[in-house]
Amino acid sequence: MTDAPDVDELTPPQRTLMGPGPSPVHPRVLKAMSTPLVGHLDPSFIEIMDETQELLRYAFQTDNKWTIPVSGTGSAAMEAAIGNLVEPGDTFLAPTNGYFGDRMAEMARRAGGDVVRVGAPWGEPLDPNDVGDAMAEFDPDVFGFVHAETSTGAKQTNVPELTDIAHDHDALVVADTVTSIGGVELRVDDWNVDAAYAGPQKCLSCPPGASPLTLNDRAMEKVLDREEKPRSWYLDLSLLEGYWGDERAYHHTAPVSNVYALREALRLVAEEGIEARWERHERMAGALKAGVEAMGLGLNPEDDYWLPSLNAVRVPDGVDDGAVIDYVLEHYDLEIASGLGDLAGDVFRIGCMGHGARPENVTLVVAALADAFE
Ligand code: PLP
Repeated sequence: MTDAPDVDELTPPQRTLMGPGPSPVHPRVLKAMSTPLVGHLDPSFIEIMDETQELLRYAFQTDNKWTIPVSGTGSAAMEAAIGNLVEPGDTFLAPTNGYFGDRMAEMARRAGGDVVRVGAPWGEPLDPNDVGDAMAEFDPDVFGFVHAETSTGAKQTNVPELTDIAHDHDALVVADTVTSIGGVELRVDDWNVDAAYAGPQKCLSCPPGASPLTLNDRAMEKVLDREEKPRSWYLDLSLLEGYWGDERAYHHTAPVSNVYALREALRLVAEEGIEARWERHERMAGALKAGVEAMGLGLNPEDDYWLPSLNAVRVPDGVDDGAVIDYVLEHYDLEIASGLGDLAGDVFRIGCMGHGARPENVTLVVAALADAFE
């Protein structure tokens, strides 16, 4: 007989989350999450699914029928996109300019793809000329890029140019929009992105658990015409079609509370207006950037590809980044994060996302950093 553990009631600390995610969750989203469950095939839930899909299309700026929340974190939506679009023997072109481009490459490899790379330094976007050269050299079936690199704070500019180049070479384009959806200009249809995946816990200010994914007809045609089934049963989009498509038949038990939360988070996006929301992120992150620059700190990426949702602030010489992060957590209940991968120890990663992109949060970050550096 195993003894029952004596565990206290949950009392998490009240943090202000200004790291790379999760971001502060709007009270309306928390409230939606605590409403009673219905069954995942209940007629009322079918309606909630339809509404969530409609709201997701708005956030992605797409008319794609095939737009769903994938059960799981952003990596689940990422693996659903890559694992279904990449067939064994396909060539997948992945970027080298950040941590999440490496993850794309690894997922494509595990899906049986031959991975080739197009390079840019960490903190810089891909250059369309380099993408064109890589297309000519490797003739890939699928090209992946990261719209908002959370590891470097750099935004991929020239997206329509990249998708044109890829389509000229008959490659499908898959975009990582985890840190851009709902916070940074993103136009899936106008930019001709074939598939995009995202996360709820960044600029949508929703807890992780149900992650946005959209595919256009061209991408879905490839998925449905595969010769070999994808290696994951759980993330097989041809099976998920049965639940999220017209049939609404059981595949797996949808994370009902997470779908409630996402629906409410997306309702907030629709109420604010997507363009107004992009503008708010830029304005609030602009104030944050000005504040840290006034302290003599610099941002890592150049202004042309600065990513408002994730500010990579260079760690000054002689400063221990870990000590600063610990200090602001201890004294201000404020979460910011250290660099990742190639930028570990070189930058602080300060998010300005969703419900966190507000004057009081920006003021707190600037004040806490000024104190920590004193
Ligand atoms: N892609 C990017 C750009 C991310 O920032 C993240 C998470 O931070 C992911 C993918 C993976 O998402 P998750 O950690 O929710 O699985």
